Amino acid sequence: MIISELKPLPEILGYLDKDKKLFLVGCKGCAEVCHTGDEPQVLEMKQKLEKEGKKVTGHCVVDFLCDKALVKTRLLPHEDEIDAADSLLVMTCGIGVQATAAVVNKLVHPAANTINVGGVGGTWRGSERCRECGDCVLDLTGGICPLTACTKSLVSGACGGASHGMCEISKDRPCGWEQIYDRLKERGLLNRLDDLMKPLDHNKLMPRPEMMATPRYGLENPPAVPKPAEEVKVK
Ligand code: SF4
Ligand code: SF4
Repeated sequence: MIISELKPLPEILGYLDKDKKLFLVGCKGCAEVCHTGDEPQVLEMKQKLEKEGKKVTGHCVVDFLCDKALVKTRLLPHEDEIDAADSLLVMTCGIGVQATAAVVNKLVHPAANTINVGGVGGTWRGSERCRECGDCVLDLTGGICPLTACTKSLVSGACGGASHGMCEISKDRPCGWEQIYDRLKERGLLNRLDDLMKPLDHNKLMPRPEMMATPRYGLENPPAVPKPAEEVKVK
């Protein structure tokens, strides 16, 4: 399971800033278990945003937001509501946010951080990857993760070594930062790159003590069983 946790509301409101109309997307997979993006959570977020003067044009909770084909199909009936929105707020893990950003022609904001608790990760068929950094920056990168799309995991821009769109290190891989640039350009969002990305808060990489005390954490990390003391043979 991929563990996600909602970002604090002031952080979300900070990057929604100029966006007055929003479409909300939730997930019935891992995010439902984490209470990050299930239906009640999405409706609660709607209320909070409306209280802050935002208009929610609609919402959709998809079975598995990490499945791009499914996301595309489920969002199709909401086309008008999505068109009417300035951007989308996606309440799930980094994979779900990336999958949504890949299929809609709009700015997509992550509502959650994806946290590394060890144990078993989710399974999905797409090319999107999340390193569970705990401090999601997809808001600034057009929904493409710089930690996984860039071979050097650069978070502050391209290294400058790419050639014909391919990475200088892994020549068979497209340059992640060129992909970010192209996505933002295509959507008229190149100004996102004006916001200087803050250094990642690596403290968030490890789960907080409150998270470690949850049954979810216990399920993924069974306690170590002490080995029996070795018998000492006396000759
Ligand atoms: S920035 Fe990348 S690694 Fe970090 S939570 Fe977002 S998708 Fe995952
Ligand atoms: S060429 Fe692009 S993907 Fe490769 S290391 Fe440089 S910025 Fe990252």
